[in-house]
Amino acid sequence: MSQKKFDVVVVGTGMGALSAACLLAKAHLEVLVIEQNYLIGGCTSSYWRKGFVFESGATTLVGLGENMPLQYLLDQTQVQIEARHLENPMQIHLKNGQTITRHENLEKWISEAENAFGKKNQRKFWEFCYEISQFVWKTSLKQRNFPPAKLQDLWHCAKNTNLQQVYFAQYAFRNMDWLLAKFDLAHNQLFRDFVDQQLIITAQNYSSEVNVLFGATALCYTNFPNYYVDGGLINLVEPLAHFVRNQKGSLHLRESVKKVVRKSDSYSIETSKGNYESKYVIFGIPLNNVLEIYEQANPNLYKKMLPAASLNSAFQMGIGFGLEAKEKIDCIHHQIHLEEPLPYLEESKSIFLSLSHPADSSRTDQPRQMVASISTHLHKPAEKVIADKKWVENSILEILEKKGFLERKNVVYTHSSTQHSWEKWTNRAFGFVGGYPQFQKIKPWQMVEARLDRHKAYLCGDTAYPGQGIAGAVLSGIIAFEKLKNDWLGKI
Ligand SMILES: Cc1cc2nc3c(=O)[nH]c(=O)nc-3n(C[C@H](O)[C@H](O)[C@H](O)COP(=O)(O)OP(=O)(O)OC[C@H]3O[C@@H](n4cnc5c(N)ncnc54)[C@H](O)[C@@H]3O)c2cc1C
Repeated sequence: MSQKKFDVVVVGTGMGALSAACLLAKAHLEVLVIEQNYLIGGCTSSYWRKGFVFESGATTLVGLGENMPLQYLLDQTQVQIEARHLENPMQIHLKNGQTITRHENLEKWISEAENAFGKKNQRKFWEFCYEISQFVWKTSLKQRNFPPAKLQDLWHCAKNTNLQQVYFAQYAFRNMDWLLAKFDLAHNQLFRDFVDQQLIITAQNYSSEVNVLFGATALCYTNFPNYYVDGGLINLVEPLAHFVRNQKGSLHLRESVKKVVRKSDSYSIETSKGNYESKYVIFGIPLNNVLEIYEQANPNLYKKMLPAASLNSAFQMGIGFGLEAKEKIDCIHHQIHLEEPLPYLEESKSIFLSLSHPADSSRTDQPRQMVASISTHLHKPAEKVIADKKWVENSILEILEKKGFLERKNVVYTHSSTQHSWEKWTNRAFGFVGGYPQFQKIKPWQMVEARLDRHKAYLCGDTAYPGQGIAGAVLSGIIAFEKLKNDWLGKI
């Protein structure tokens, strides 16, 4: 039986895959996107349950604005996204009972930080981090052939290199502990705990492991414009999928790619529903999954693959509840530092709470009801056993009630998920999510390279651009496209 032929098959519909698919479709390649789930988006998606729209994973969104990857993608494709700018991006509830607001405005944030952590060197620390973060985003978009793996990448990188980049490269060799010591903040325990809990949600690791380039950028996440998409983040991914279809691309749901085989000048793609042939393949799934279904990948990649013990999954809970005074909510994202550990999750020192926007009426069937998404890290997902999810859910509800976010009598529906649900939803090995954590031993130029086989197979997603969430995943898709284009398409 003859196989249907495409220019490119894209595996998955995560933010990395969809970004690459959009750019390939725009370049007039015939694209087939294959997704195993019944919904698109992977860890950036939303689903309807019992009258509420829950987020599958991500809840916070940066990346719209100058020098940001998502903005670049939208500018390239002219895709429009409706998003609300959040005046107060996040609040942190410290263990000592203080609540601090992470203002977007740097001056306002510095004064808030000085009030919370003492005046000493907060200004210098945050001005330094902000300068680094602006540099990292600007450079990342310019260096779309990063990390360089071929002479032609080096040429592209060199063309876009300036003295500031050479100077700032030294911070890839320093970790965030070094930065805290440099500003004499290492003994300020309250501040150290704050930094660590912020880093674990934005860089997937702690100050001893995260290098200054990524760490400073991750810490300044809230100093860049943050947005909320009405109806959930499915409304961020749907317009991208729509764009692919409009460019004569195809998207198949509930179809799983089982095996990819390299032929002399094409790839054979075996799925749960049939076989295809394509000139190029983009894997928008974690490296660990790629190596299970594609045996002809560059053997060096096995050395770069991180084992389950280095990775995180997430315990996640969704709550639908009635609110007595909706208008009181002036911030929807909250990091709550824990006084007591949660059952089974003793390594977790904070939970992250995201509420639906009070002005968004599309997340529930009923007026005056809200949705809350709560998540926390679950380390070493291959070993961890959570025997009683209800116990964890009850402990979370108790914390939320104590902090005044909800009243238990108004809770309409709850559900929760562990690594096993992630494995089902995204197919990700061991149910690990959030991408590869930042590790000090892995310098930015040693990250996993997009070229999988030095031929026509490419990788994107959060293992290729680790630990920077949606923005990083989008960037990984842009880089995979750029490398494919430079390798094979010439000027388009
Ligand atoms: C709980 C949680 C909270 C988060 N919070 C934030 C946040 O607030 N802000 C932020 O920016 N980021 C956040 N992140 C991170 C962010 O969501 C992810 O890093 C990003 O969405 C990952 O995108 P990806 O391209 O790597 O692909 P994924 O989202 O992993 O998508 C891969 C897709 O491929 C499909 N697939 C897998 N295998 C196959 C196969 N063999 N055949 C066909 N399809 C396949 C999967 O079903 C999935 O849809 C969070 C993540 C989690 C889990």
